[in-house]
Parts: sequence; structure tokens; C-alpha cells
Amino acid sequence: MTDLPIYLDYQATTPLDPRVLAEMMPYLTGKFGNPHSNHSFGWEAAAGVEIARKDIADLITAGPEDIIFTSGATESNNLAIKGIAYAAYPSKNHIITAMTEHTCVLESCAALERNGFKVTYLPVGADGLIDLVQLDQAITPKTSLVSIMAVNNEIGVIQDLKSIGKICKRKKVMFHTDAAQAVGKIPLDVSAMNIDLLSISGHKIYGPKGVGALYLRPKANIQPLALFDGGGQERGLRSGTIAPALCAGLGAACKIAKQDMVKDQNHIHGLAKRMKSAIFGGLDCIDLNGSEKQRYMGNLNLVFEGVTGDALIKELRNIAFSAGSACSTGRTEPSHVLTAIGLDKAQADCCIRIGIGRMSTAQEIDYAADHIIDVVKKIRTRL
Ligand SMILES: *Cc1c(COP(=O)(O)O)cnc(C)c1O
Repeated sequence: MTDLPIYLDYQATTPLDPRVLAEMMPYLTGKFGNPHSNHSFGWEAAAGVEIARKDIADLITAGPEDIIFTSGATESNNLAIKGIAYAAYPSKNHIITAMTEHTCVLESCAALERNGFKVTYLPVGADGLIDLVQLDQAITPKTSLVSIMAVNNEIGVIQDLKSIGKICKRKKVMFHTDAAQAVGKIPLDVSAMNIDLLSISGHKIYGPKGVGALYLRPKANIQPLALFDGGGQERGLRSGTIAPALCAGLGAACKIAKQDMVKDQNHIHGLAKRMKSAIFGGLDCIDLNGSEKQRYMGNLNLVFEGVTGDALIKELRNIAFSAGSACSTGRTEPSHVLTAIGLDKAQADCCIRIGIGRMSTAQEIDYAADHIIDVVKKIRTRL
């Protein structure tokens, strides 16, 4: 018997890995010092922060000095996008992103537009991927930054980071990637992929909420302008006392993700295949959104003809999944990602996102697949 409710929303957040909690505990209790203090209590807390910085850097093949701690990927994205845009202004006033980015990237760009910057929003194909020729052609001498996410949070497709990095290097523009859904799940190498800035979130990788990081290439042409004024912590780029327990948690999450990446991938791929073949075997008129091949398997975004995601959520209270994207609260508009890949509003309303992760089990997948199939059939017979 499976414990209910079942959690299948790993793109919204992930449970804290108990191994992560164990690494955090000392900094929530005895090692309470301010890591910026110059005495033994401070040194002890700072030492923990520096171990974490190295573990984060190792996961993306960077140096520890290239990691800035933030409160999460939202802050990292704001710092990267606004920070670079403002630092490059006025000689450069243009940035490029994609229509399918996370809301915090799109809203950062919208804020820049309100302040006189120009932004190109690249469309994507039905597979959810940008066109590299279009990207190349969109870059002008006024372009400072290209910001293209790694793994899409709604449909799981993986953009071709290596090719994007190559284009940005050739055109001498900065390349930022929101890798909140990619870090620890697919191999990332900031040198090989020519990534200048990369955003990380703790709670998407079995770490704590409220912490993230930004990788910054040390010798990049442009260094971002800080968004916070204060004590000058994190090389002046992110003032404020850093939280050693949260940093230790993010570090541990990265270390474990590196050690367990292949094991996690095998586990998650196996369960995703199981879910997919059960649902596609049991139902007609369904489709997987986004590229079939270039994707992270832990994300299955499915469209069920004639059955709304909201109706499924209402009928399946024991299974936690999301209809469209849960990231924009109170949304009544169809998801901008589903619209960008060519779905109309009616189709977008009929989509659900199933997120499978490290703690998912075969029993949970079987229970969820059976019940989803039953409910879809039931709703369809009512039509
Ligand atoms: C969750 C997420 C974010 C926001 O991360 P927070 O750490 O919650 O601020 C940004 N981008 C993507 C792709 C995400 O999945």
C-alpha cells in the first residue's frame, strides 16, 4: 500500500533530503556564529559556508570563488539579467531571451523594458526549443546579454546550451542560463558550455527553500551591478549576512546530486517510462508536450483531449501534480509556455505536469497512473 497523498510535483519543489538536513543542523544549533565576524564563532560558520561554495562549484565545473550566494533562483536571475543590463548600459541596451522562460526572467526583462531597454523574446518551435539561427541573427552590437534557460520548468525540454554558448562567445555577448531545473539533474560544465552566468535554486534539488546561487565567470567582459546596497558581502554583489545553515544545505544538496546523478537518472527515467507507457497504453487522445528526445525525463507534461487539468486535480485529491505552471499564482490566462509551443487556450487548459523525483516509488507511479486513467475515462464518458 502506498502512503497518500502522493507527491508528483517535483518541478514546484522537492522534499529536503535527510542527508541535507543532517549537514544543516550544526549551523542551526551550536555553530551559530555570523560568518562575517572575525572571531572563532565567525570562522567556524564561515568555514561551513566555504565548504558549501566548493561543493556547488564542483557540480558545474566552476571555481568556488565564482559562486555568489543568493536567496534563490529568482534573485539570481534578477541579479544576472538586471545586473548585466545596467552594467553594460548605455553602450549596450539590448538583451535576448526566450518566450518560454520562467516568469522571474520574463518579469526582469519587462522591468528593463520599462526603463528603456530593448528585449527580444525568441519564439520556440512545437518542440519547445529555440532556433539557433534566429538567436544568432538577433544579436546586434547593442546586445549585452543572452538569457536562455537550461531545462524548462513546465515542459522539461533541454535547450542546446553548448551551441548557444558557442554563438554567444563568437558574438562576444554574455550568456546567462537559468539552470534551476537542470543543476544536479543533467551534467553541466560552465567552461565547456561557455556559460558566463548560471542560476541555481536550493529547493529544486532536495535542498532547503530560501537559498540559491549565481555562478559568475571570473574574467567575463562585464560584471553585474549589485542590486542590494549594504555591507558588501559576496564580493559586493549581494550584501546581507549570508545564512550558513542554508548555504550548507545547498552545498550538501549539490554534493549529493553529483554523487548520485547517474543513480537518480536511472531511477527517474525508469519511473517516467513506467508512467508514460501506463498512461499511453490506457488512454487515447493524449500527447506529450515538448521535444520527445531533448528533455529531462522527470517532467511529463501531458495533454488529455477534452479533460481539463483543473478537473483532474479536483478528482484526484490524493495525487499532487500541477495543471500548467504553478509558478504564477492566481493565473487565469493559459500558460505562456504551452501557448508558445502552439497550443490554443482550450488545449492548454487540458494539460497536467507530472513531476517525478528521487523519492518517487514504483507503487506511487502505478497508483497515480491507474487513477489518472480511471478519472480521465470517467470525465470523457460524461461529455
Ligand atoms: C523554481 C524556479 C525558479 C525560481 O526559483 P526560486 O529559488 O524558487 O526563487 C526560477 N527558474 C526556474 C526554471 C525554476 O524552476
